[in-house]
Amino acid sequence: LNRRLAEFGTTVFAEMSALAQRTGSINLGQGFPDTDGPEEVREAAVRALRDGRGNQYPPGPGVPELRTAIAEHQQRRYGLTFDPDTEVLVTAGATEAIAATLLALLEPGDEVVALEPYYDSYAACIAMAGAARVPVTLRPDPEQARFRLDLDELRDAVTDRTRLLLINTPHNPTGTVLTREELTAVAELAVERDLLVVTDEVYEHLVFDGAEHVPLATLPGMRERTVTIGSAGKTFSFTGWKVGWVTASPGLVSAVRSAKQFLTYVSSGPFQYAVAEALALPDTYFDAFRTDMLAKRDLLAAGLTEAGFAVYRPAGTYFITTDIRPLGESDGYAFCRSLPERAGVVAIPNAVFYDHREAGAPFVRFAFCKQKTVLEEATERLRSLT
Ligand code: PMP
Ligand code: GLN
Repeated sequence: LNRRLAEFGTTVFAEMSALAQRTGSINLGQGFPDTDGPEEVREAAVRALRDGRGNQYPPGPGVPELRTAIAEHQQRRYGLTFDPDTEVLVTAGATEAIAATLLALLEPGDEVVALEPYYDSYAACIAMAGAARVPVTLRPDPEQARFRLDLDELRDAVTDRTRLLLINTPHNPTGTVLTREELTAVAELAVERDLLVVTDEVYEHLVFDGAEHVPLATLPGMRERTVTIGSAGKTFSFTGWKVGWVTASPGLVSAVRSAKQFLTYVSSGPFQYAVAEALALPDTYFDAFRTDMLAKRDLLAAGLTEAGFAVYRPAGTYFITTDIRPLGESDGYAFCRSLPERAGVVAIPNAVFYDHREAGAPFVRFAFCKQKTVLEEATERLRSLT
């Protein structure tokens, strides 16, 4: 293994899901739903397979039906206009979108300013591109009961070597939804310092309590300098299908495509047709999905609070970040390693998403994209901790 990758080892998700299997624990670690997405969308995939649509290499940028559906979704939800032929690229999940974007845009030695804690593939892809990550730590704000972006810290992180800002909202693992004010400051900084922005918005449909998902590309000066990343895995509960996408200006999409063509060449065909149909589902689907997840959030948040955790109630995503110090614990990694034996539950230590490990040490993430009975059983088990 080369030096660029050596520090990363096995992803925490594989490690913790294996631990859940081995110990027969309830897996609230890796973020995947335990209920598959809509029947009609599965039927659409079956139809595509049966009718021979996408069983051979689909077009490199993605099938036209899906690129059009992505453009229409961005138009309908956010008033953003993208040309399906030149400004949309289908990828093998958001994971490939992240990899292809960073490999396409970064030169060795470039710096990437990213919000810490960060989704694990960001750090690895920045390293594979030979660039350096510069973390800006989201810090818990007791008054707002959320993790907050310190705009001065963000500003100070930008140097002459900064090539791009890597943003994620709604944010995994903290559940923070960056506010319009925070994002406006990000946009102003990007314009002032002439930076590209890559924004991972895979949880765009999971926002609660009146929080608003503001796509960075909608802010002044951002349409031309932003690469927006989305995924069907989260929005339609098909994480195994690995259909994601990039929307950006033609020059940026063309650059990302240059990298993608040598990573996977194309993404899986039949699922693209099915996701095209999914994106055209009426608003009632998206509303029901959000309402269902909101009820699950509240159920798990209440259970974790009763079990003695300090809970950061998320405004978005399907994750709850907790602080384990009220339980008399301080090392999230050790806590998560012992949790299956102590309580039969698996969670993710947020520390693995930090360069400043100590800043993340007391935080532990639980996923609530699970059936209510599963969440109830998990919180019942966790109550035995105290
Ligand atoms: N970005 C974030 C913030 C995520 O949480 C995930 C997956 N959970 C991804 C990207 C990857 O998405 P996909 O499964 O579509 O590759
Ligand atoms: N994104 C999911 C999470 O944060 C897991 C994705 C993965 O396993 N790579 O839990």
